[in-house]
Amino acid sequence: MKIIPKKSLGQNFLVDKNIICNIARLIDNKSDLNLIEIGPGYGSLTSELIKKKPNKLVVIEKDEKLVNILKENFGSNIDIVNDDILNISFENYIIKNTVIIGNLPYNISTKILTNLIKFINKKNSIKYVIFMFQKEVADRIIAKENSKEYGRISILVNWKMNVKKLFDINPECFNPKPKIKSTLLFFEPKTKIFELKRSKTLEHITNIFFQQRRKIIKNSMKLLFSDYLYVSKYLGIDLNLRPQNLSVETYLKISDFYEKNYFNKSLT
Ligand code: SAH
Repeated sequence: MKIIPKKSLGQNFLVDKNIICNIARLIDNKSDLNLIEIGPGYGSLTSELIKKKPNKLVVIEKDEKLVNILKENFGSNIDIVNDDILNISFENYIIKNTVIIGNLPYNISTKILTNLIKFINKKNSIKYVIFMFQKEVADRIIAKENSKEYGRISILVNWKMNVKKLFDINPECFNPKPKIKSTLLFFEPKTKIFELKRSKTLEHITNIFFQQRRKIIKNSMKLLFSDYLYVSKYLGIDLNLRPQNLSVETYLKISDFYEKNYFNKSLT
């Protein structure tokens, strides 16, 4: 069957066999692994993943046409879920020794990542995650403080996971060819995660700070805390810095303070 790629579903299929094998090589050959692939397409990476003989391989694909092709090609070797990844709850699929992998649909890649982050806690058993992003998005995810790419997504990700860049992938490796390079990233949940009551707090705080990216943080602190002078002193924060100068830990400290002292006033 001929597949006409759907732009609305961010369909850029990997066609370069070398790259596909290089990605699959990153997955351990361990039979106790439970693999989840997001957006398998017609299964170019999936067929390499099967060779790893995982305990279980679940693929989640929204496009019904592709699901039919997957069923034909892989039959009962894999669990095929025909659903929107943004509608499903990760909880239902994550069991012990879970590895999540995906050449993500780029239009919703950060949304998928932020949904996953919300779910990550000390108790769950995600071993690692391998996701492909547009290079620019990946650069923002791995950015460190004091760089211009550093922002909300870098902070949110680094709160719960260690992340590293694996390699870039040229547009020629896909069909259709995307306009820009892609980057493969590796995420590993931290063993110690700074505890916040709600992910929303950190999202709220970073939103306020980075809405005024170029301004000194005094403005944002004023917005958040009526007694901002006291709070900044208490937390040891220099009000003349810009949002990109604060470390992830500092944002977590601010969020923690906010939750403990201001929570009821604002997030209701
Ligand atoms: N992994 C494949 C395809 C990548 S393209 C390959 O590398 O060749 C992205 C894939 O995600 C497509 O198959 C697309 O149909 C699927 N997709 C897009 N939006 C989705 C969603 N909301 N939920 C699940 N899958 C989705």
